[in-house]
Amino acid sequence: MKENKPIRDESFRDSIATVNQEGNREYVFPKKPKGKLHNYRLIVSWILLAIFFGMPFVKMNGDPLFLIDVINRKFIFFGQIFWPQDTYLFAVMMLTLIVFIVVFTVSFGRLWCGWTCPQTIFMEMVFRKIEYLIDGDAPKQRKLAKGSWTFEKIWKRIVKYSIFALVAYLIALTLFAWVIGLESLVEMLGEPISENSAAITGLIVLTGFLLFIYSWFREQVCLILCPYGRLQGVLLDKNSILVAYDYVRGEIRGSQKKGENRKEAGKGDCVDCRACVQVCPTAIDIRNGTQLECVNCTACIDACNHVMKRVGLPKGLIRFDSERGISTGAKLKLNARLIAYTSVLVVLFTFLSFLFFSRSDVETTVLRTPGLLFQKHDNNRISNLYNIKVVNKRRVDFPIEIKLLSHDGEILVPAGDMIVKSATFTEGVFFVYLNEDDVHGKIPIELGIFTGDELIEEIEITFVGSN
Ligand code: SF4
Ligand code: SF4
Repeated sequence: MKENKPIRDESFRDSIATVNQEGNREYVFPKKPKGKLHNYRLIVSWILLAIFFGMPFVKMNGDPLFLIDVINRKFIFFGQIFWPQDTYLFAVMMLTLIVFIVVFTVSFGRLWCGWTCPQTIFMEMVFRKIEYLIDGDAPKQRKLAKGSWTFEKIWKRIVKYSIFALVAYLIALTLFAWVIGLESLVEMLGEPISENSAAITGLIVLTGFLLFIYSWFREQVCLILCPYGRLQGVLLDKNSILVAYDYVRGEIRGSQKKGENRKEAGKGDCVDCRACVQVCPTAIDIRNGTQLECVNCTACIDACNHVMKRVGLPKGLIRFDSERGISTGAKLKLNARLIAYTSVLVVLFTFLSFLFFSRSDVETTVLRTPGLLFQKHDNNRISNLYNIKVVNKRRVDFPIEIKLLSHDGEILVPAGDMIVKSATFTEGVFFVYLNEDDVHGKIPIELGIFTGDELIEEIEITFVGSN
């Protein structure tokens, strides 16, 4: 009699598949994945790789479209320049991003890991592909790794690791271009090493680090390093959509005998071929249920669908579904929960975009010069001295003029005309003169910062006079 129950044996959770009983690393040789989902993943990966490698070449008004210049504290996103003064915006963005990640993961599981995470894309779609090309599929790789140092093994290792090192260097170069800009990178590479020894050392260390990650450490990044992976246990629930094995349909598993009617034999649809395990890049058996190691790469879905087709059973024994969907047999559909969570994601994204594009591109700070008292002048006039700092996030230089909006009086800039340079900040000082009869103690006054006839900003400051 067939039992539609989840598997009770949880002993697989006591160890990870990539570490053996002695505590040594078990190297994974996943079978070459193929199938419909893998083809979709390939397309997504190519697009993302093109964005990663191509973006430093894309310019907007002479600046890169994206720049994360941590050293000079200058950031450009979608052509918009951000300064340390925009830190509040980054804080809000980070908070929104955290909520976004939580809501996204609760709804759609680890879709990010399998389809868009840079680690997965570089590992599975770049380095692993090179490895298949040189070493062959999993059985050949295993044989080569275990075999002695023949001529074939030596030349394959030399070629493979040389190409790996070259690709790692290209990734490191591109990361540098994202951080310091393409022009600075080209300039740096054209100069003698001694003039940029720190940056060149950084480039070499980064290349070595990437080579270590993609040639040896590999899936261990997802298993033991990635904080997002560790969060899955608390973020996922029974309604989260994951790569899941349909144990209701699949159990009791058993091989397919010739001409056998599986139902009559009391068997489920899983023919226990282990094709799903063989393709898994983290070496887990998805039939054991949701596991931290599963990066939702969908390789097992493709592999199982292929087997199901071969034995004449319906596809989808392993599929995208929720635990509740599997246990109740309900079809995966857009339910109220998914719509609500997706709406929250859209609202968050809209809010972020609004913050992003609506922030002011000129920021002025005016403070009374510390340590100076007001001064009395002829004609019953009284003056205060102020410091002004103007951050110009625009790409053009422009002159500014400070005008009094709230009082009759006069502004005097000792240095003459103020020009604020593009994509930087300008500092200066100015005097405000008011009629003494208008000032009693501390009073608020309003200033306008103009460029030509355009009022850029209105600022309220304090003017101090005698009581
Ligand atoms: S269990 Fe399937 S989806 Fe999860 S990592 Fe392994 S092959 Fe990928
Ligand atoms: S590939 Fe499908 S049929 Fe084969 S062991 Fe995995 S779940 Fe069972």
